[in-house]
Amino acid sequence: MKIGIIGGGASGVFTAIRIKQLHPNYDVVIFERNNKLLKKIYATGNGRCNFANSNPIDGAYNDDFAYPILKEFNCIEIEKYFDSIGIKSRKLDNLYYPYSLSAATVAEKMINKVNELGIEVILDTKVDSYSSEKELTVNGKKYKFDTLIFACGGKSSPQLGTDGNIYSLLETHGYNIETLSPSLCPIKVKENVNKLDGVRVKAKATLLDKKKEIYSEDGEVQFRSDAISGIVIFNIAFMINKLNLQANTTTIKLDFVPEVENNIKKEEYNSYLNEKLSSYLIKNNIDIHNAIFTFKSFYNFDNSQVSSGGVSIKNISSNLESKLEKGIFFIGEVLDIDAKCGGYNLMWAFASAEKVAKSL
Ligand SMILES: Cc1cc2nc3c(=O)[nH]c(=O)nc-3n(C[C@H](O)[C@H](O)[C@H](O)COP(=O)(O)OP(=O)(O)OC[C@H]3O[C@@H](n4cnc5c(N)ncnc54)[C@H](O)[C@@H]3O)c2cc1C
Repeated sequence: MKIGIIGGGASGVFTAIRIKQLHPNYDVVIFERNNKLLKKIYATGNGRCNFANSNPIDGAYNDDFAYPILKEFNCIEIEKYFDSIGIKSRKLDNLYYPYSLSAATVAEKMINKVNELGIEVILDTKVDSYSSEKELTVNGKKYKFDTLIFACGGKSSPQLGTDGNIYSLLETHGYNIETLSPSLCPIKVKENVNKLDGVRVKAKATLLDKKKEIYSEDGEVQFRSDAISGIVIFNIAFMINKLNLQANTTTIKLDFVPEVENNIKKEEYNSYLNEKLSSYLIKNNIDIHNAIFTFKSFYNFDNSQVSSGGVSIKNISSNLESKLEKGIFFIGEVLDIDAKCGGYNLMWAFASAEKVAKSL
């Protein structure tokens, strides 16, 4: 069997390795538009690659479709598998990293495996057409496959090769593309926070839709001249997309002293917070427990880690094969599956890659 994989990122490389290990006789070719494989992996987890999470997965993703696949190949399986290709792991709280705390370790070990298994890699090659008969024409050369796997990521971080270029092509083949939006990104707010640019503070962040509390998380919040950021805010961006909440009626409440139950007088704010933040709260008559910021928009795709939306799961069967074109599969972020921060997105990339490798 001849298998063509479009995209040499986390899911594409993982599935190529697993297909070749499970079916040594299959020919596997990866097409990657960048000049090297796994370019994005190097940037993940602040260069440390947070590749899985052992917390319960329920609720961490945008759609229940993902859960059976993630349960078949969970964080323990991923850890075991990484060990088998020479990557030892370490867990910080419930987050898995390579023991080296270096994303380069993950990329290099995976690339070594690709070479060792004799997987063909065609770099600097952007696939921009295909036929339902699974034929690709790239750089004037024709390739005929029995199976095609789309592993070309979403629309976030175009500087790493993922600009959503494949979606218009897929639309011409009849796929429904769910609205693409930056997720896991800073949130622009209506209030003027220019004076807080650069402030970092521990807070409890609560998402409200029309004043109703929906989601809460503690962590560090970072202010930008026009936005709030930080992992808790990225997760709130994920929830806004997941629930399709609207600008203006969606607000984020920050409690800057969640551990302190009693009321704090304004004169005391600067005993708890830094000067910039306490003066801002006092000047604008904002309660230290209840600072409300109104969702205006997300930062753009260049500044987001993951995009929500993509190939609709309505077009995909439970083994990730297209319902429209036989022998064509979709894995990773190209699908309308995304998750909050903490290793969940790479977990999906690997679990969906494993699912397809096993179902071929
Ligand atoms: C800065 C940053 C930090 C992140 N940190 C984490 C983290 O710590 N933990 C976590 O779980 N997730 C993290 N993520 C998200 C995670 O990296 C992605 O969800 C994951 O890589 C998606 O895997 P994928 O294989 O679907 O797509 P990608 O890894 O994006 O790979 C897709 C590949 O396809 C190629 N491609 C696209 N179009 C074409 C085409 N037409 N022809 C040929 N090739 C094409 C691209 O160049 C790219 O190499 C982070 C993302 C970013 C940007």
